[in-house]
Amino acid sequence: MRVLVKGTGVAGLTAAFELATRGATVTVAEMRHGLGGNASWFAGGMLAPWCERESAEQPVLDLGRSAADWWDAATPGQVTRAGTLVVAAPRDAGELDRFASRTSGHRRVDEDEIELLEPDLAGRFRRGLLFPDEAHLDPRQAMAALHDRLAAMGVDIHFDADARLGSGFDRQIDCTGMAAVDDRLRGVRGEMLILRTPDVSLSRPVRLLHPRFPLYLVPRADTQFMIGATMIESQSAGPVTARSMMELLGAAYALHPAFGEAEIVETAVGVRPAFPDNLPRVEARGTTVTINGLYRHGFLLAPAIARQAAELIFRHDKSLELANETDRQRRSG
Ligand SMILES: Cc1cc2nc3c(=O)[nH]c(=O)nc-3n(C[C@H](O)[C@H](O)[C@H](O)COP(=O)(O)OP(=O)(O)OC[C@H]3O[C@@H](n4cnc5c(N)ncnc54)[C@H](O)[C@@H]3O)c2cc1C
Repeated sequence: MRVLVKGTGVAGLTAAFELATRGATVTVAEMRHGLGGNASWFAGGMLAPWCERESAEQPVLDLGRSAADWWDAATPGQVTRAGTLVVAAPRDAGELDRFASRTSGHRRVDEDEIELLEPDLAGRFRRGLLFPDEAHLDPRQAMAALHDRLAAMGVDIHFDADARLGSGFDRQIDCTGMAAVDDRLRGVRGEMLILRTPDVSLSRPVRLLHPRFPLYLVPRADTQFMIGATMIESQSAGPVTARSMMELLGAAYALHPAFGEAEIVETAVGVRPAFPDNLPRVEARGTTVTINGLYRHGFLLAPAIARQAAELIFRHDKSLELANETDRQRRSG
C-alpha cells in the first residue's frame, strides 16, 4: 500500500513510522524547508501523563502512559526517565495540595528529598511532589532521530514539497496541524524561551505552581533550559509579548536566582492545534485519514494516535480486500 503523509510535525513523523513498520510504502511531504518552525519544534518535550491529568481528561493518561517506551524504541537514547518534580513557593502551598488532589502517580517530597533530587534547589522549596514514572526528551533531537530512522527504513521524505505531490497514493494521512481545513480546530498559543546558564543544573523537568501562571523548566543539553509555556486562546504566531516574557523569566528567576544572569538563547511561539474537548482525533474520510488536535500533548499522545491511524488504515484495507474477494467469489460462483 502506498501512503502519503502530509506534515513533519510529531503527528506526521510518528504516523509515517507506524505505517512503515507495518509494511506500507510511505512518502512524507512537508511544505517547510526542513524540520522546525512548527508547533512540535517549540515543545517542551515532557512525557508527563500523570501531571497533565491535573487539567486533562482520562484518555490523556491512558494513551500517554506508554509514550516514553515508544520513543525509547523508535529513537533509542532520546528519552530521559527521571520523573517530574512539582514545587510551589511556600505562599502557594495550597496550589500543591490542589495539584496533588487532582492527580495520581506521585509522592510527596520534603525539603531534604528535594535537595537530594535537585541539589541546586536546596533550601528553596519546603514541599513538592515527585512523579517518578514520567520522562522527557528534547523534541528537536527526537524529531531529527525519527527523521533519520524513517530515511533508513526507506521512507521518502520531501521538504519544500509541492502541493501537487498527491497523486498515485492509495491513502493520504493529513497531519498538517493548524493548516488543516477544519472549522472545529482552534489555536492555543504557547510562548517559550530557551535560557543558557552553567550556574544551574537540573536532572528533570520542574513545574512551578502559581495561581496565575504555572510554568515549567525542562533541562536540555549544553546547560540550556526550555522555559514554557503560556496558554493563550489565539492562533497568532506573532513574537513573544513583553508580558509573557516577564512571566517566563519570573518563573525561572523564582526557581533559581542564577537564571537572572542566564543568556537568552531563543524566544519563540508555537500554536497548538486543539479541538473543543482538547482531545486528539483520528478521522477517516474516503481515502484520507486525518490526525489532529494534539493540543498540548503532541509528544505524549502522537505515538498512540499514530498507532490508531495505522490500524484504521490496515483494517480498512483488509475489509476492502475481503469485500473484493467476496465479490469475486460471488461473481465466479
Ligand atoms: C510551547 C509549547 C510547548 C509544548 N510542550 C509540550 C510538551 O512538553 N509535551 C507534549 O507532549 N506536547 C507539548 N506541546 C504540544 C505539541 O507541540 C503539539 O501537540 C504538537 O506539536 C502538534 O503536532 P502536529 O504534528 O499536529 O503539528 P505541527 O507540529 O504544527 O506540524 C504540522 C506540520 O504540517 C506542515 N504542513 C502544513 N500544511 C501542509 C501541507 N499542505 N503539506 C505539507 N505539510 C504541511 C507544517 O509545516 C508543519 O510542519 C507543546 C506545544 C507548544 C507550542
